[in-house]
This record gives sequence, C-alpha cells and structure tokens, in this order.
Amino acid sequence: MEDIEKIRAEYPILDRMIYGRPLVYLDNTATSQTPDCVVNSIVSGYTQTKANVHRGVHTLSMEATELQESARRRVKDFINAPSTEEIIFTRGTTESINLVAAAYGGAFLRDGDEIILSVMEHHSNIVPWQLLQRRADIRIRVIPIREDGSLDMDEYRALFNEHTRFVSVCHASNVLGTVNPVKEIVAEAHAHGIPVLIDGAQAAPHLKIDVQDIDADFYAFSAHKMYGPAGVGVLYGKRKLLEIMPPYQGGGEMIESVSFEKTTYAELPYKFEAGTPDFIGIAAFHQAINYMERLGIEKIAAHEHELLEYTTRRMLDEIPGMRIFGTAPGKCAIISFLVDGEHHYDMGMLLDKLGIAVRTGHHCAQPLMTALGIEGTVRASFAVYNTKEECDRFLTALRRVSEMLR
Ligand code: PMP
Repeated sequence: MEDIEKIRAEYPILDRMIYGRPLVYLDNTATSQTPDCVVNSIVSGYTQTKANVHRGVHTLSMEATELQESARRRVKDFINAPSTEEIIFTRGTTESINLVAAAYGGAFLRDGDEIILSVMEHHSNIVPWQLLQRRADIRIRVIPIREDGSLDMDEYRALFNEHTRFVSVCHASNVLGTVNPVKEIVAEAHAHGIPVLIDGAQAAPHLKIDVQDIDADFYAFSAHKMYGPAGVGVLYGKRKLLEIMPPYQGGGEMIESVSFEKTTYAELPYKFEAGTPDFIGIAAFHQAINYMERLGIEKIAAHEHELLEYTTRRMLDEIPGMRIFGTAPGKCAIISFLVDGEHHYDMGMLLDKLGIAVRTGHHCAQPLMTALGIEGTVRASFAVYNTKEECDRFLTALRRVSEMLR
C-alpha cells in the first residue's frame, strides 16, 4: 500500500504499547480500528450538531437529519441499491438479521417450512432463526463445506424441496475467510422462488458490494468492521419485501399516526427504524465509507491479500505442526490456525504478552467448529493499516510461543 505511514498516522491506537511492545493489531475481523477522520466526525456530531433527527424545525435538528439522510444516500450508492427507501439503519449485522428473521420469518414462515443456512454461519445468522422455532415448527437445513472450506454447492442445490421458504448465508466466513459464490446462491434460490439474505459482515470491509448484481433480497453489514463506529449497521432489503413485512419494533419515528384504536406506520425505510437512531454514528459511518473509497476498496483488498499470502506461506514453512483452516481460492485476509498439540487459548494469551492481538476460540461459529472437529482456533486477520513488518513480528512471536508450548 502506498503511503502506509500516512495511513497509520490516522490511527493513534496503533502507537500503543502492550506489555512494553508495540501493538500489532491482527483482530480486524472482530472489529477494525477507526481513523481520525471518522473519530472527528463523531466529535463534531457531539460538539456541533447534536439534536434529535426528524422531529425538529430548528437548525441543529435539520442539520443532524441531513447528516443522517446523506449517509443513507452514501450507503445506497456504496452498495448500488436502487433507492434510499431500501436502506435501513440498524445497530449492526446482528440486528439486521434479527429484523428479517422476526419480521419476514415471523409473518411468512409456518409449521413444516424449511430454511437453508450454511455450516459456516456466525451465530448471528443461526440463533435469530432458532428463535423463530419457538413460534413455528421450522426446520433448518445446513449446507456443508468441502475440505478447503468452500461451500458444497451440489449439496446446496440438493437441499431445496417444496418446503423450502428462505435462504440465509454469509458472503464471507469470519473463520475460514471463504468468499461464497453469492450470485450463484441467489440465482439458485430464485429459480425456486425463494428469497435470500446475505450476511455481508465480512465482505463489506473487503469487497465491492453490488446488491443489484448479486440480486440479494436482503443484505446486512456492520460499520465497525469497516473503519466506522460501533453500534451502526445496515439492512438493505428489496422494496417489494420490505413493504409486505410488518414492523420489527414499535415506537417513535416508525409511525404515521397513533391512536389507541389504530396506528399506521411510516413509509420505508422509517417503518423499520423505531426510536432514536445513532445518528452521530451513522454520520460517522458516512465518513468511513468515504475513507474506504478514497483509499480504494480494490487497493485495500490487494494490500490485505499480499499480507495474507506472505504470512500464510511463512507460517506453513516455518512453524512445525501448523494447520490452517480455510484455503479456498480468493479467500479474505483471515488466517484461522492451530499448531498441533497447542491450545488456541494459550497461544492467544502468550501472543498478547508479546504485543500481538489475535482472537482465539470458536469465533461465534460453534457449528463450524463441530464440523471441523475442533473447539476453536487462533485467528489473525488483516486490515489496510497492517504492514509486512507487523507480519514479521507476528511470525517471530508465533515461532517463540509455539516453541514455548511444545
Ligand atoms: N456475521 C459475521 C460473518 C460476522 O463476522 C459477524 C461479526 N463477527 C457478525 C455477523 C455479527 O456482526 P455484529 O456483531 O457487528 O452484529
């Protein structure tokens, strides 16, 4: 990446020392760090324009509303959605999926219906559907993976039958890094007349997303993994589906008129945005999208891939007993691994003592861990501000930790 030092200078957190060593932050899949331009937007939101959105005639309220609505236009363009009415702000991917499961699933799924998920789903794309099972006897069918961590598309096609009503899969796996063939997944479901939700939490930070090209019925993602603030996410939904869905939550902002006898709901997208949103976070997300586009999403991805390939090769060459989970071509810059006989938790803890931040455990994907026959992994993942020198420090630390534990 050109100007990597200039990029890093926008992240004061990267100058932190951990146990007397410079931080090497490789937990970007869980959340990415936030550049000054995004933090400044949050500060300005609180110090200059804070007023509740949509309800005011005064200047501050109108400014705050415009900041939120211009963020909505920006998100629409960013994912090439047809209209801003189809962009719903949520608290994150988790809430976006819960919204669809509760509102769409709650209204349209019945006893005996089946939905298709994949074995690599994050818990946030499993549990919301299980919550529905309290209301109806819905069967969850699961797409398995192949040896390299790619989805078994033949098995996927074989799962459809006359009971299938919905498909919900991730665009990219937060454990394996696999990028799923979402266009093909959607096309297959549509051939059966079935709508599809794509969990884009791990794709939106690294790939150019075009919801019309994918033809996704719903697409969910989180700002905090995209150099943006925590607590803000997006649900894109096709208008024809959003219109027939009942509201998810009730409250202010989502109504047209309320009486004790009868309440009518606001137009899209507000029907699904009950209560005061994190309008300051939403405006900051706008800046995060500008930031990503200024750097160039393809360039970000190319930089991350260079680090991924370099680090993967050296890990396999230099660390005896190294096992990497997820080797599908074109995967995202995520390395989940285990070293024979060494516990992931011990590795993560010792790496932390050397200044290296990686994640350990099941990564909110316990069914995938079960399918892989393991309890957890260590996971290193890259973002635009990571450097080859940091990869070297990680590799040195990893060698040391691995020798210690052996
Ligand atoms: N899906 C995937 C694939 C994820 O990686 C994550 C976050 N780890 C989520 C969903 C949930 O995102 P959030 O916690 O931001 O709602």
